[in-house]
Amino acid sequence: MAFAPPGRRDTFLTAANELDYRTLGGEKLMAFEHKAKAFPFAYGSQKGMSETTDKRHHDTHYAGYVAKRNEVEQKLSACDRGKANANFSEFGELKRKETFNASGQILHELYWDMLGGDGAMDATSPLGKAIAEEFGSFDNWKADMVATAKASTGWAILCLDPSDGRLHNYLCDSHNIGAVWGAIPLLALDVFEHAYYGDYGPDRAKYVEAYLSDVDWKKVGARFSAHAVHFGKK
Ligand code: FE
Repeated sequence: MAFAPPGRRDTFLTAANELDYRTLGGEKLMAFEHKAKAFPFAYGSQKGMSETTDKRHHDTHYAGYVAKRNEVEQKLSACDRGKANANFSEFGELKRKETFNASGQILHELYWDMLGGDGAMDATSPLGKAIAEEFGSFDNWKADMVATAKASTGWAILCLDPSDGRLHNYLCDSHNIGAVWGAIPLLALDVFEHAYYGDYGPDRAKYVEAYLSDVDWKKVGARFSAHAVHFGKK
């Protein structure tokens, strides 16, 4: 299978993590400040999602991960590493929250960036063929993704895994728990209760169906092709 070379940056990270130079106390420091992306649609315009849920999810939860990621990185730079301790230490707790908030930012940006379509997969596209090769059919992939979403307390994520060159639906119970090193997330489905309870109550399956019906598979396919060139397929 021939794949296009990757772009310079992932689309969902573009402009989100540019270097920012801040002047503190008269001294110009090279600091990295993560910036929250604007919500990519009109609030409430996604299929099955209300304006209230979108606003809370983006403005409070997502923006909160970005803000805390910056705060944690700043505090780590001044933290006493000499007191690092596995039972309890300020350094250790900051390191745990470093990956939690970083992964929370990354996954939420991917969650929204792949929406805006009709949920239909082009079976003749490179990703359509790869999904059929791995799962037997798109419907089989969807059944596996829905089951993964029902079983998770955090995320169900379609990934391209370079360790075996295959597609997987991975389950992550938290932003930073369950990830497989090196695997590229292609489509991230948020099943934390904050994502759907306001609109669906406990009916997670109905929310998952609404999300998947809004996926733009052309965007997911472009992301797949950009990364697949590195790994090939077994
Ligand atoms: Fe969320």
